[in-house]
Amino acid sequence: MTAQIIPVDPFDYIIFGGTGDLAKRKLLPALYHRDHDGQLPDEARLIGASRSKHSDKAYRKFAEDALREFVPDDQIDEDTLKRFLARLHYLSLDVTDDDGWDELKKLLGDEDRIRAFYLAVGPNLFGPISEALEKHGLTDTRSRLVIEKPLGRDLESAQALNREVGAHFDEEQVFRIDHYLGKETVQNLLALRFANALFEPLWNNAHIDHVQITVAETVGVGDRAEYYDKAGAMRDMVQNHLMQLLCLVAMEPPANGDADSIRDEKLKVLRSLAPIDADNVGSSTVRAQYRAGAGPEGKVDGYLDELGHESDTATFVAIKAEVENWRWSGVPFYLRTGKRMAERMSEIVISFKPVPHAIFGKDAGTPISNQLVLRLQPDESVKQWIMIKDPGPGGMRLKHVPLDMSFAQTFDGRSPDAYERLLLDVIRGNQTLFMRRDEVEAAWAWIDPIFDAWDETNHPVATYTAGTWGPSQSIALIERDSRTWNDGTR
Ligand code: NAD
Repeated sequence: MTAQIIPVDPFDYIIFGGTGDLAKRKLLPALYHRDHDGQLPDEARLIGASRSKHSDKAYRKFAEDALREFVPDDQIDEDTLKRFLARLHYLSLDVTDDDGWDELKKLLGDEDRIRAFYLAVGPNLFGPISEALEKHGLTDTRSRLVIEKPLGRDLESAQALNREVGAHFDEEQVFRIDHYLGKETVQNLLALRFANALFEPLWNNAHIDHVQITVAETVGVGDRAEYYDKAGAMRDMVQNHLMQLLCLVAMEPPANGDADSIRDEKLKVLRSLAPIDADNVGSSTVRAQYRAGAGPEGKVDGYLDELGHESDTATFVAIKAEVENWRWSGVPFYLRTGKRMAERMSEIVISFKPVPHAIFGKDAGTPISNQLVLRLQPDESVKQWIMIKDPGPGGMRLKHVPLDMSFAQTFDGRSPDAYERLLLDVIRGNQTLFMRRDEVEAAWAWIDPIFDAWDETNHPVATYTAGTWGPSQSIALIERDSRTWNDGTR
């Protein structure tokens, strides 16, 4: 079963920071794949813009090297590569200077086609670039602006950033990427909930016991330690990815699939989160740093050794969150994320309540509660765990098995990367999978008091050995409620 490919309208993608890591690892490969699948119109152009001096030819060589490095060999098609590289142009400009913008305007011409400006640069440049684009007449309705985390480091800075961008672009032109929303499994969560009659009647506190959301990485901070130290797990992961996933699990059914109908419902979830403050920060949160241990590459240093100085920045956070509304009252949402954990694994686990009464004798075994497990990475999949009778003679013996819809086995071909979907959604003008200004701010409004409460109560920064599932305090956080983390075993 191969998906139908619908080409998009002609466009120019302008990547500020076109020689950076994000462009190299994600943006250029994503657009290459879309070209390979025949989704880019002949006229589509990609313009890399950054400070360094390059010719178009040198930029094409840079892009070719990046593609050969980041696209698997068996997915490089020489004809596509040639066609793709011919679409590339390069413009050397320092976005804080006045020079170069006229050249960009000239290159774009006055054709009736979408201009998507992707700001793959630090957030301190979002304001200056937006201002310069307006000054040079490049913010009309053909223009779209794409920005990505970090979108602020607290509510105040996020509001300032939104104001700076909003002074030059309408909200309908601004696409705030959270690449987790572009993942197939995440969109599948919407399909499962709202295209099936089966789940929604059970999707509430009468039938769901609790929800777990885990985003675990095995990598450490490496040579990005100084940069990471300013953010930590809370700003880097919780405020955006984990809270967006929580919203999609918890939101009410939207009236329709429009971007704003969905985003309105997500916003209501964010505003329903029970505050965490000095009174409950001790029982509802855990923060920790990894110490020396094992990574996929063997022995690894601890966070403070990599950083080279003292810091209370958390590389691991676990939170017991509560959505205070009719649907979810009494259902905890356990969130956790960390670096240098035992496995690279992101998943959402919906744990249903146990059956109300066991009719089978003790020889049959105890029924295990049903779980719906949505695996985001690696190997995106959806598994519904149920109890069945163990086949064969021997009487009634219960067995816990998954109804498995592993994408790699069920669907032909490669599962597209989240950026492929999102980059073309920008061209289509579809904001469904992008965060609206008020969502970002509402998420910070919940996060900021947690930082304040940590400071106010001198909340300890626990430690965990690199290569484990986090500190013992995280296990205690969930086991106090007689529940257990799902450590990738299901
Ligand atoms: P990078 O340092 O590798 O690249 C930055 C790019 O910006 C370079 O091309 C550089 O030439 C250009 N640049 C910097 N100052 C400029 C100026 N004054 N004028 C013109 N060009 C300028 O950074 P990166 O890793 O690609 O990240 C870019 C942004 O995206 C950062 O804010 C980062 O936090 C965010 N981000 C990156 C990733 C990733 O996977 N790398 C993921 C999510 C978010």
